[in-house]
Amino acid sequence: MSVLVYTENTDGKFKKSVHEVVSYAKAVADAINTTVTAISIGNVDPSDLASLGNYGASKVLNVSADRLKQFTNQAYASVIAAATDHIGANVIVLSNSFSGKGLAPRVAAKLGAGLADSAVELPRFDGDRLTVKKTAFSGKAYAITELSSAKKVISLNPNAFEVRETGGSTEIETFSPEIPAGDFAAVIHDIVRATDKVTLPDAEIVVSAGRGLKGPENWGIIEELAEALGAATACSKPVSDAGWRPHSEHVGQTGITVSPNLYIAIGISGAIQHLAGVSASKIIVVINKDAEAPFFKAADYGIVGDALEVVPKLTAAIKAHKG
Ligand code: FAD
Repeated sequence: MSVLVYTENTDGKFKKSVHEVVSYAKAVADAINTTVTAISIGNVDPSDLASLGNYGASKVLNVSADRLKQFTNQAYASVIAAATDHIGANVIVLSNSFSGKGLAPRVAAKLGAGLADSAVELPRFDGDRLTVKKTAFSGKAYAITELSSAKKVISLNPNAFEVRETGGSTEIETFSPEIPAGDFAAVIHDIVRATDKVTLPDAEIVVSAGRGLKGPENWGIIEELAEALGAATACSKPVSDAGWRPHSEHVGQTGITVSPNLYIAIGISGAIQHLAGVSASKIIVVINKDAEAPFFKAADYGIVGDALEVVPKLTAAIKAHKG
Protein backbone atom coordinates (compact mmCIF):
# COMPACT_ATOMS: atom_id res chain seq x y z
CA MET A 1 0.00 0.00 0.00
CA SER A 2 1.44 3.38 -0.98
CA VAL A 3 0.74 6.70 -2.68
CA LEU A 4 1.95 7.65 -6.19
CA VAL A 5 2.02 11.30 -7.26
CA TYR A 6 2.49 12.55 -10.83
CA THR A 7 4.78 15.60 -11.10
CA GLU A 8 4.37 17.74 -14.24
CA ASN A 9 7.12 19.68 -15.96
CA THR A 10 7.55 22.19 -18.74
CA ASP A 11 10.80 21.99 -20.71
CA GLY A 12 12.49 19.97 -17.93
CA LYS A 13 11.47 22.24 -15.01
CA PHE A 14 8.72 21.31 -12.59
CA LYS A 15 5.48 23.30 -12.75
CA LYS A 16 4.47 25.39 -9.76
CA SER A 17 1.69 22.91 -8.85
CA VAL A 18 4.25 20.15 -8.16
CA HIS A 19 5.23 21.03 -4.59
CA GLU A 20 1.56 21.50 -3.70
CA VAL A 21 0.52 18.15 -5.14
CA VAL A 22 3.45 16.29 -3.49
CA SER A 23 2.59 17.94 -0.13
CA TYR A 24 -1.01 16.73 -0.57
CA ALA A 25 0.16 13.20 -1.45
CA LYS A 26 2.37 13.20 1.67
CA ALA A 27 -0.58 14.22 3.86
CA VAL A 28 -2.68 11.40 2.33
CA ALA A 29 0.20 8.94 2.88
CA ASP A 30 0.63 10.03 6.51
CA ALA A 31 -3.07 9.46 7.15
CA ILE A 32 -2.85 5.85 5.91
CA ASN A 33 0.58 5.25 7.35
CA THR A 34 2.51 4.78 4.14
CA THR A 35 5.05 6.50 1.87
CA VAL A 36 4.93 8.68 -1.25
CA THR A 37 6.61 7.86 -4.56
CA ALA A 38 6.68 10.56 -7.24
CA ILE A 39 6.70 9.82 -10.96
CA SER A 40 8.40 12.27 -13.32
CA ILE A 41 8.15 11.87 -17.11
CA GLY A 42 10.44 13.76 -19.51
CA ASN A 43 14.00 14.96 -19.06
CA VAL A 44 13.62 16.78 -15.76
CA ASP A 45 16.51 18.67 -14.20
CA PRO A 46 18.16 16.40 -11.53
CA SER A 47 18.06 19.18 -8.92
CA ASP A 48 14.29 19.48 -9.46
CA LEU A 49 13.94 15.71 -8.97
CA ALA A 50 16.00 15.83 -5.76
CA SER A 51 13.89 18.74 -4.42
CA LEU A 52 10.86 16.44 -4.08
CA GLY A 53 12.34 14.89 -0.93
CA ASN A 54 11.79 18.20 0.83
CA TYR A 55 8.03 17.89 0.23
CA GLY A 56 7.65 14.29 1.35
CA ALA A 57 8.44 12.00 -1.61
CA SER A 58 10.76 9.26 -0.36
CA LYS A 59 11.34 7.97 -3.91
CA VAL A 60 11.16 9.38 -7.46
CA LEU A 61 10.60 7.14 -10.49
CA ASN A 62 12.38 8.98 -13.29
CA VAL A 63 11.19 8.19 -16.83
CA SER A 64 13.28 9.96 -19.45
CA ALA A 65 12.75 8.17 -22.80
CA ASP A 66 13.16 10.47 -25.80
CA ARG A 67 9.75 9.62 -27.25
CA LEU A 68 8.14 10.79 -23.98
CA LYS A 69 9.73 14.25 -24.21
CA GLN A 70 6.46 15.75 -25.47
CA PHE A 71 3.32 15.21 -23.41
CA THR A 72 0.79 12.73 -24.83
CA ASN A 73 -2.23 11.65 -22.81
CA GLN A 74 -2.23 8.01 -23.88
CA ALA A 75 1.46 7.23 -23.31
CA TYR A 76 1.72 9.22 -20.06
CA ALA A 77 -1.39 7.45 -18.70
CA SER A 78 0.21 4.07 -19.54
CA VAL A 79 3.43 5.08 -17.74
CA ILE A 80 1.53 6.22 -14.63
CA ALA A 81 -0.51 2.96 -14.63
CA ALA A 82 2.71 0.92 -14.98
CA ALA A 83 4.30 2.87 -12.10
CA THR A 84 1.21 2.19 -9.97
CA ASP A 85 1.67 -1.56 -10.53
CA HIS A 86 5.46 -1.30 -10.08
CA ILE A 87 5.21 0.13 -6.54
CA GLY A 88 1.83 -1.40 -5.62
CA ALA A 89 0.25 2.04 -5.13
CA ASN A 90 -3.40 2.23 -4.19
CA VAL A 91 -3.84 6.02 -4.21
CA ILE A 92 -2.70 8.04 -7.25
CA VAL A 93 -2.59 11.85 -6.96
CA LEU A 94 -2.38 14.34 -9.86
CA SER A 95 -2.93 18.05 -10.27
CA ASN A 96 -6.28 19.00 -11.84
CA SER A 97 -4.30 21.02 -14.38
CA PHE A 98 -4.82 21.22 -18.13
CA SER A 99 -2.93 17.94 -18.66
CA GLY A 100 -4.19 16.42 -15.37
CA LYS A 101 -7.78 16.79 -16.62
CA GLY A 102 -6.94 14.53 -19.56
CA LEU A 103 -4.72 12.13 -17.64
CA ALA A 104 -6.73 11.40 -14.48
CA PRO A 105 -9.73 9.67 -16.16
CA ARG A 106 -7.42 7.72 -18.48
CA VAL A 107 -5.30 6.49 -15.56
CA ALA A 108 -8.45 5.58 -13.61
CA ALA A 109 -9.87 3.65 -16.60
CA LYS A 110 -6.60 1.73 -17.11
CA LEU A 111 -6.48 0.77 -13.41
CA GLY A 112 -10.22 0.14 -12.93
CA ALA A 113 -9.95 2.80 -10.21
CA GLY A 114 -12.49 5.21 -8.77
CA LEU A 115 -11.82 8.86 -9.65
CA ALA A 116 -12.41 12.04 -7.65
CA ASP A 117 -11.37 14.97 -9.83
CA SER A 118 -11.21 18.63 -8.69
CA ALA A 119 -10.54 17.73 -5.02
CA VAL A 120 -10.37 20.75 -2.71
CA GLU A 121 -9.22 19.24 0.57
CA LEU A 122 -7.77 16.12 2.18
CA PRO A 123 -10.05 13.07 2.00
CA ARG A 124 -11.74 11.55 5.03
CA PHE A 125 -10.49 8.04 5.67
CA ASP A 126 -12.75 5.21 6.76
CA GLY A 127 -10.96 1.87 6.40
CA ASP A 128 -10.61 1.25 2.67
CA ARG A 129 -12.99 4.07 1.76
CA LEU A 130 -11.97 7.62 0.98
CA THR A 131 -14.48 10.45 0.98
CA VAL A 132 -13.34 13.39 -1.13
CA LYS A 133 -14.82 16.89 -1.30
CA LYS A 134 -14.60 18.21 -4.86
CA THR A 135 -15.98 21.08 -6.90
CA ALA A 136 -18.85 20.43 -9.31
CA PHE A 137 -20.77 22.39 -11.94
CA SER A 138 -17.85 24.71 -12.77
CA GLY A 139 -17.24 25.56 -9.12
CA LYS A 140 -20.91 26.43 -8.34
CA ALA A 141 -21.27 23.49 -5.92
CA TYR A 142 -19.34 20.87 -4.00
CA ALA A 143 -19.82 17.13 -4.43
CA ILE A 144 -18.87 14.67 -1.70
CA THR A 145 -17.53 11.61 -3.51
CA GLU A 146 -16.87 8.24 -1.89
CA LEU A 147 -14.18 6.05 -3.41
CA SER A 148 -14.46 2.38 -2.43
CA SER A 149 -12.46 0.74 -5.25
CA ALA A 150 -9.11 -0.94 -4.46
CA LYS A 151 -7.26 1.80 -6.38
CA LYS A 152 -8.24 5.43 -6.15
CA VAL A 153 -7.29 8.41 -8.34
CA ILE A 154 -7.55 11.95 -6.94
CA SER A 155 -6.83 15.13 -8.92
CA LEU A 156 -6.27 18.21 -6.76
CA ASN A 157 -7.52 21.67 -7.76
CA PRO A 158 -4.65 24.19 -8.05
CA ASN A 159 -4.14 26.37 -4.93
CA ALA A 160 -6.40 24.10 -2.85
CA PHE A 161 -3.70 22.80 -0.47
CA GLU A 162 -0.76 24.49 1.25
CA VAL A 163 2.83 23.55 0.36
CA ARG A 164 4.50 21.78 3.31
CA GLU A 165 8.27 21.34 3.56
CA THR A 166 9.33 18.21 5.39
CA GLY A 167 13.11 18.56 5.10
CA GLY A 168 13.51 14.98 3.82
CA SER A 169 15.60 13.57 0.99
CA THR A 170 14.64 11.26 -1.85
CA GLU A 171 15.97 8.27 -3.76
CA ILE A 172 15.87 8.55 -7.57
CA GLU A 173 15.18 5.35 -9.53
CA THR A 174 15.29 5.06 -13.32
CA PHE A 175 12.02 3.57 -14.54
CA SER A 176 11.59 2.28 -18.13
CA PRO A 177 8.18 0.65 -18.53
CA GLU A 178 6.91 -1.00 -21.73
CA ILE A 179 4.51 1.36 -23.50
CA PRO A 180 1.97 -0.01 -26.04
CA ALA A 181 2.87 1.05 -29.62
CA GLY A 182 -0.74 2.24 -30.09
CA ASP A 183 -0.09 5.02 -27.53
CA PHE A 184 2.10 6.73 -30.14
CA ALA A 185 -0.46 6.70 -32.96
CA ALA A 186 -0.31 10.52 -32.88
CA VAL A 187 3.11 12.00 -32.12
CA ILE A 188 3.96 15.65 -31.42
CA HIS A 189 7.34 16.32 -33.02
CA ASP A 190 7.83 19.88 -31.90
CA ILE A 191 6.06 22.67 -30.05
CA VAL A 192 6.69 26.13 -31.44
CA ARG A 193 5.94 28.95 -29.02
CA ALA A 194 3.66 31.60 -30.51
CA THR A 195 4.87 34.18 -28.00
CA ASP A 196 7.70 34.78 -25.54
CA LYS A 197 5.23 36.16 -22.98
CA VAL A 198 4.38 34.23 -19.81
CA THR A 199 1.78 31.58 -20.75
CA LEU A 200 -1.57 32.00 -19.01
CA PRO A 201 -2.05 28.58 -17.33
CA ASP A 202 1.42 28.80 -15.73
CA ALA A 203 1.39 32.49 -14.82
CA GLU A 204 2.01 33.51 -11.19
CA ILE A 205 0.30 36.87 -11.82
CA VAL A 206 -2.51 37.58 -14.31
CA VAL A 207 -3.79 41.04 -15.26
CA SER A 208 -7.21 40.58 -16.85
CA ALA A 209 -9.66 43.09 -18.30
CA GLY A 210 -13.24 43.16 -19.50
CA ARG A 211 -15.78 45.25 -21.35
CA GLY A 212 -15.30 48.04 -18.83
CA LEU A 213 -12.17 49.01 -20.80
CA LYS A 214 -14.51 50.29 -23.57
CA GLY A 215 -12.34 49.25 -26.52
CA PRO A 216 -9.04 47.76 -27.72
CA GLU A 217 -7.46 51.23 -27.90
CA ASN A 218 -7.33 51.27 -24.07
CA TRP A 219 -5.39 48.01 -23.67
CA GLY A 220 -2.06 49.81 -23.44
CA ILE A 221 -2.68 50.48 -19.72
CA ILE A 222 -3.35 46.76 -19.14
CA GLU A 223 -0.15 45.73 -20.94
CA GLU A 224 1.89 48.31 -19.00
CA LEU A 225 0.55 47.07 -15.66
CA ALA A 226 1.24 43.45 -16.71
CA GLU A 227 4.77 44.34 -17.78
CA ALA A 228 5.47 46.15 -14.49
CA LEU A 229 4.35 43.04 -12.58
CA GLY A 230 5.86 40.40 -14.92
CA ALA A 231 2.30 39.16 -15.45
CA ALA A 232 0.38 37.45 -18.25
CA THR A 233 -2.62 39.27 -19.75
CA ALA A 234 -6.13 37.81 -19.96
CA CYS A 235 -9.65 38.98 -20.79
CA SER A 236 -13.34 38.16 -20.43
CA LYS A 237 -15.24 36.31 -23.18
CA PRO A 238 -17.09 39.29 -24.73
CA VAL A 239 -13.74 41.03 -25.16
CA SER A 240 -12.27 38.20 -27.22
CA ASP A 241 -15.62 37.66 -29.04
CA ALA A 242 -15.46 41.32 -30.10
CA GLY A 243 -11.92 40.82 -31.40
CA TRP A 244 -10.42 43.33 -28.92
CA ARG A 245 -8.06 40.58 -27.72
CA PRO A 246 -7.06 37.14 -29.06
CA HIS A 247 -9.17 34.12 -28.05
CA SER A 248 -6.08 32.61 -26.41
CA GLU A 249 -6.53 35.20 -23.60
CA HIS A 250 -10.17 34.38 -22.81
CA VAL A 251 -10.53 32.91 -19.31
CA GLY A 252 -13.58 31.28 -17.76
CA GLN A 253 -15.91 28.35 -18.13
CA THR A 254 -15.52 28.27 -21.92
CA GLY A 255 -11.94 29.55 -21.95
CA ILE A 256 -8.73 28.93 -20.06
CA THR A 257 -8.68 28.09 -16.34
CA VAL A 258 -6.03 30.02 -14.43
CA SER A 259 -4.71 29.56 -10.89
CA PRO A 260 -2.19 32.36 -10.31
CA ASN A 261 -1.06 33.69 -6.94
CA LEU A 262 -2.53 37.06 -7.95
CA TYR A 263 -5.44 37.73 -10.36
CA ILE A 264 -6.25 41.37 -11.06
CA ALA A 265 -9.69 41.80 -12.68
CA ILE A 266 -10.24 45.20 -14.28
CA GLY A 267 -13.64 46.28 -15.62
CA ILE A 268 -15.01 42.73 -15.39
CA SER A 269 -18.46 42.26 -13.82
CA GLY A 270 -17.75 38.83 -12.27
CA ALA A 271 -20.33 36.64 -14.03
CA ILE A 272 -20.39 33.04 -12.79
CA GLN A 273 -19.01 31.81 -16.13
CA HIS A 274 -15.97 34.08 -15.70
CA LEU A 275 -15.44 33.15 -12.03
CA ALA A 276 -15.47 29.44 -12.97
CA GLY A 277 -12.08 29.90 -14.63
CA VAL A 278 -10.40 32.13 -12.05
CA SER A 279 -11.70 31.13 -8.62
CA ALA A 280 -8.64 28.93 -7.91
CA SER A 281 -6.50 32.11 -7.82
CA LYS A 282 -4.87 32.66 -4.44
CA ILE A 283 -5.54 36.42 -4.21
CA ILE A 284 -8.10 38.28 -6.32
CA VAL A 285 -8.00 42.07 -6.74
CA VAL A 286 -10.99 43.72 -8.43
CA ILE A 287 -11.02 47.19 -10.00
CA ASN A 288 -14.53 48.27 -11.03
CA LYS A 289 -16.37 51.59 -11.09
CA ASP A 290 -19.57 49.94 -9.82
CA ALA A 291 -19.36 49.18 -6.07
CA GLU A 292 -22.19 46.64 -6.56
CA ALA A 293 -20.34 44.61 -9.22
CA PRO A 294 -20.67 40.89 -8.30
CA PHE A 295 -16.91 40.36 -8.65
CA PHE A 296 -16.32 42.25 -5.36
CA LYS A 297 -17.95 39.32 -3.48
CA ALA A 298 -15.14 37.02 -4.72
CA ALA A 299 -12.39 39.62 -4.17
CA ASP A 300 -9.71 39.70 -1.48
CA TYR A 301 -9.07 43.37 -2.27
CA GLY A 302 -11.20 45.82 -4.21
CA ILE A 303 -10.82 49.29 -5.69
CA VAL A 304 -13.97 51.17 -6.67
CA GLY A 305 -13.00 53.55 -9.42
CA ASP A 306 -12.61 54.24 -13.13
CA ALA A 307 -10.07 51.79 -14.57
CA LEU A 308 -8.74 54.41 -16.97
CA GLU A 309 -7.69 56.52 -13.95
CA VAL A 310 -6.84 53.82 -11.38
CA VAL A 311 -4.72 51.48 -13.54
CA PRO A 312 -2.08 54.06 -14.69
CA LYS A 313 -1.71 55.21 -11.05
CA LEU A 314 -1.27 51.62 -9.88
CA THR A 315 1.36 50.98 -12.58
CA ALA A 316 3.24 54.15 -11.64
CA ALA A 317 3.16 53.17 -7.94
CA ILE A 318 4.49 49.67 -8.73
CA LYS A 319 7.29 51.10 -10.90
CA ALA A 320 8.20 53.61 -8.18
CA HIS A 321 8.23 50.83 -5.57
CA LYS A 322 10.55 48.71 -7.74
CA GLY A 323 12.84 51.71 -8.18
P1 FAD B 1 -19.76 43.27 -18.56
O1 FAD B 1 -20.68 42.27 -17.95
O2 FAD B 1 -20.34 44.23 -19.54
O3 FAD B 1 -19.10 44.06 -17.35
C1 FAD B 1 -18.29 45.17 -17.51
C2 FAD B 1 -17.91 45.65 -16.12
O4 FAD B 1 -17.02 46.75 -16.23
C3 FAD B 1 -19.09 46.12 -15.28
O5 FAD B 1 -19.05 45.50 -14.00
C4 FAD B 1 -18.90 47.63 -15.15
O6 FAD B 1 -19.31 48.15 -13.88
C5 FAD B 1 -17.40 47.74 -15.29
N1 FAD B 1 -16.95 49.01 -15.83
C6 FAD B 1 -17.50 49.75 -16.85
N2 FAD B 1 -16.75 50.85 -17.09
C7 FAD B 1 -15.72 50.82 -16.21
C8 FAD B 1 -14.62 51.66 -15.95
N3 FAD B 1 -14.41 52.78 -16.68
N4 FAD B 1 -13.77 51.33 -14.97
C9 FAD B 1 -13.95 50.20 -14.21
N5 FAD B 1 -14.98 49.37 -14.41
C10 FAD B 1 -15.84 49.66 -15.39
N6 FAD B 1 -17.56 35.06 -19.78
C11 FAD B 1 -16.24 34.95 -19.52
O7 FAD B 1 -15.57 35.93 -19.17
N7 FAD B 1 -15.62 33.73 -19.67
C12 FAD B 1 -16.27 32.63 -20.07
O8 FAD B 1 -15.64 31.55 -20.20
C13 FAD B 1 -17.66 32.71 -20.34
N8 FAD B 1 -18.37 31.63 -20.73
C14 FAD B 1 -19.71 31.75 -20.92
C15 FAD B 1 -20.46 30.60 -21.23
C16 FAD B 1 -21.82 30.70 -21.39
C17 FAD B 1 -22.60 29.45 -21.74
C18 FAD B 1 -22.48 31.93 -21.25
C19 FAD B 1 -23.97 32.05 -21.40
C20 FAD B 1 -21.74 33.06 -20.95
C21 FAD B 1 -20.36 33.00 -20.78
N9 FAD B 1 -19.62 34.13 -20.48
C22 FAD B 1 -18.28 33.99 -20.20
C23 FAD B 1 -20.18 35.48 -20.48
C24 FAD B 1 -20.55 35.96 -19.07
O9 FAD B 1 -21.84 35.53 -18.73
C25 FAD B 1 -20.52 37.51 -19.01
O10 FAD B 1 -21.42 38.00 -19.99
C26 FAD B 1 -19.15 38.09 -19.26
O11 FAD B 1 -18.18 37.49 -18.39
C27 FAD B 1 -19.17 39.60 -19.02
O12 FAD B 1 -17.95 40.15 -19.43
P2 FAD B 1 -17.45 41.52 -18.79
O13 FAD B 1 -17.46 41.40 -17.32
O14 FAD B 1 -16.19 41.88 -19.49
O15 FAD B 1 -18.54 42.58 -19.31
